[in-house]
Amino acid sequence: MDRVDLLAHFPPGFTPRPEQARLLASLADAIAEALDDPTAPRVFVVEAPPGIGKSHIAMALARWSGDAYLLTSQKLLQDQYEREFGADLQLVKGRDNYLCERYPEARVPTSRGMCRRPRGPLCQCPYARAKAAALAGPIFCTNTSYFATLRHWRADQLRKRRLLIIDEAHNLEAQLVSVFTVAFPPELTKAWFGGPLPRLDAAEAYRALMREHLERLDGQLEALTRALEVMRPSGVPPETFLSIPPSRAEQELMVERESLETALARVRFFVDAEDREWVVRYPPEPGATLELVPLTVASTARELLGESADFVVLSSAYLGHRSALAECFGLEEAAVRSLASDSPFPLAQRRIDYRPVGALSKTSLARLEPALFTEVAAILDAHPHEKGLIHAPSYAAGRRLVADLAGRGPAFSRRLIWVESAQAKTRALDQHRAAATPTVLVSPSLREGVDLPDDFLRFQVVTKMPYPDLGDPWTAARRARDPRWYALETAKALVQAYGRSCRHADDHGLTYVLDRQFERFLAHYRALLPPWFLDAVRAAMRARYPEASSECEDSG
Ligand code: SF4
Repeated sequence: MDRVDLLAHFPPGFTPRPEQARLLASLADAIAEALDDPTAPRVFVVEAPPGIGKSHIAMALARWSGDAYLLTSQKLLQDQYEREFGADLQLVKGRDNYLCERYPEARVPTSRGMCRRPRGPLCQCPYARAKAAALAGPIFCTNTSYFATLRHWRADQLRKRRLLIIDEAHNLEAQLVSVFTVAFPPELTKAWFGGPLPRLDAAEAYRALMREHLERLDGQLEALTRALEVMRPSGVPPETFLSIPPSRAEQELMVERESLETALARVRFFVDAEDREWVVRYPPEPGATLELVPLTVASTARELLGESADFVVLSSAYLGHRSALAECFGLEEAAVRSLASDSPFPLAQRRIDYRPVGALSKTSLARLEPALFTEVAAILDAHPHEKGLIHAPSYAAGRRLVADLAGRGPAFSRRLIWVESAQAKTRALDQHRAAATPTVLVSPSLREGVDLPDDFLRFQVVTKMPYPDLGDPWTAARRARDPRWYALETAKALVQAYGRSCRHADDHGLTYVLDRQFERFLAHYRALLPPWFLDAVRAAMRARYPEASSECEDSG
């Protein structure tokens, strides 16, 4: 068997920790076996709790391969890779993240740059250069959505590489679903269909409708191209016109053309994918966006994972049993090998304090909110000098919580930073980090992708169990198809939230859980949670029910 030495490729300047070294040794064995035996698994699942340093493991693998795609789930994480390992990788983001260099004064994104205008020049812009460098370089680093889009619609550009690494792979299904979703926001349906689309019962009915419109929409795309051509006043030579940055009206037309192009590609995919199940998401409010959402991504994931590289590494804090993962991504279970690491951090540094106020659900929430809010206030009182994070049940419940706490006095209101939307995250996090006072973030969307080490987070509160929202038709349909999927998504979300508390060997943070559903979940789905999380759960239950602890021990 060929020896594979991944440790020799550990990013320079860093010393591997014992858990990293162990995981890399297991991965090296697994790769060596696959090199030797064409029937051995080629998809490796690497699960390690937050704080182990999975990005260093990913970089060691990528550097060993010398020929890798390295995908992150969010642009924020992509930036983190660039900061830490910039010299080793070639990073590319979507077109809109770069500015056209032909208009240095005007801040025109490359998606509306000079080359995108009628008779625009052939040119190499920052985006094109970054993409070319990534395509030619040994480590092509980008975000998963961009890669999946390119892979599906421009497969010729992405040759098969030796290795594909997908970081934060617990998000892969959701990201693929969103890449293939066809969305019709109201302002665009007005332009494309003359008004809102009808409310039809099933995706099949929309397929027939879309088929009827395809030809007309193609015509509309041509009309937009013609409209762009006549933006140049007669008598003005193209060179002079191109030298002036595009007007607002021209940019709007370019955006419209791009939206229609993108939508048409997805509509075609939807119309042709008759063999797949689709879900209609069309909220009842007037002016809502209609979305046609693929129920599963098994076939697209199988293609992505099978054709992008010889070996695939899926990395996350927790992904669940490989049988569930294989099913979700259309793989044979035997083609997947799982490698997991325990937590190196002592329990005392990552404790759970279980303080149930009741079993929270959609129906019980209103009744239990007063008790929930009082408990959160007591927790804030118990940590007067420390920064923290409150995971709210939803945006609406979070607003009520913040209003209630603010009503309890300025000592509370001064500390709270309410994160009112996913877009407001970065600003809120900066504010929290910069504040010298013991600020507390409140949000339903900070369970993952957020690094708040040391004094930035000494306590956090899981108010409600993070069950995915069954009010969303896709989630409801996915659960109806596979109830185990729903439980596993909840387990993954819980583990992600817990993972905010202790970020490295010298860190510590306390996690409060206030929902009695936690106990019910454990009773049914203990097997879906990783051992390092269950260690903390056992200690929390012993503290909560000292008299029953021997029974708990017996039942494991
Ligand atoms: S290729 Fe050239 S013209 Fe086009 S967006 Fe980039 S810099 Fe501008």
